[in-house]
Amino acid sequence: MDFEKSIIQNIIFNKKKYFIKRDDLIHPIFNGNKIRKFYFLINSNYKRVYTYGGNQSNTIPAYAFFAKEKGIEVNFYTKEISKHLKSNPSGNYKIGLENINFIEIPNDRYNEETERIKNKKLDKEDIFINIGGHQKEAEHGIKLLAYEIMNWIKENKKENISVFLPSGTGTTALYLKKNLPIKVYTTPCVGDSIYLKKQFLNLEKNELLHPIILSSQKKYHFGKPYKELLDIYNRLYKETKIEFELLYDCVGWIVLEENSKNIKEEILYIHQGGTIGNESQLKRYKYLKISI
Ligand SMILES: *Cc1c(COP(=O)(O)O)cnc(C)c1O
Repeated sequence: MDFEKSIIQNIIFNKKKYFIKRDDLIHPIFNGNKIRKFYFLINSNYKRVYTYGGNQSNTIPAYAFFAKEKGIEVNFYTKEISKHLKSNPSGNYKIGLENINFIEIPNDRYNEETERIKNKKLDKEDIFINIGGHQKEAEHGIKLLAYEIMNWIKENKKENISVFLPSGTGTTALYLKKNLPIKVYTTPCVGDSIYLKKQFLNLEKNELLHPIILSSQKKYHFGKPYKELLDIYNRLYKETKIEFELLYDCVGWIVLEENSKNIKEEILYIHQGGTIGNESQLKRYKYLKISI
């Protein structure tokens, strides 16, 4: 894993020029914003992580990395895993299998069990990590990302540039904005803009340090396959030769295109990795016979 591999390139997409910060290149598997968000584990004394989420979550490879490299025990609580996935592991789940413990919770007890884990009394060497890494420790690694961006801005004398990145929990966008003296735009991919604003407020009360939220004209339910998302995924690959991520990036690029007339600055787009997860998502598109 090597942050220096995260270069900034320029691309042309739909006749417009963008800069791309390639956090997907940090490592073929262990890359993207989850590595940044959990980077605090590297120099910590934590020995056990308790967390939860979906069995194809993009957090899984990052946990697998810190489990492997630091010998941290990762206990990942999740809903019941289908027999099909267990006998045909794929995507993020497959990467997690070797290094982290998946602990299944009966579906009807998921909410109460995750609450219980959240409130469990922990030893000094244990840490509970919120779903998606939504907590203050995440700032440590995202500060490094902000620092790399600032160095590039200075070296290239960029005076009119803003950052864009799509949000889930909003953690990456918030801590980037907090550590950058330029505009940061984002869009909600999980929930709506009211949810995202609440997420920012959880981590930072000062609204001047919040990113600017742009919304898509159409509502895309998180994780659900849409023809438009597959369409922009293919167009992006065709025009830029970069594989983007289906759940977040594709919504992000749709929103960027919808707003391109209103944004006068140059845009630095943060590629937040997660393309390993495309494997399982593309299978769903195939299964649903969604193609372009
Ligand atoms: C997790 C993830 C996000 C969302 O990050 P947040 O910090 O939760 O907003 C965006 N893009 C990709 C590719 C991700 O894996």
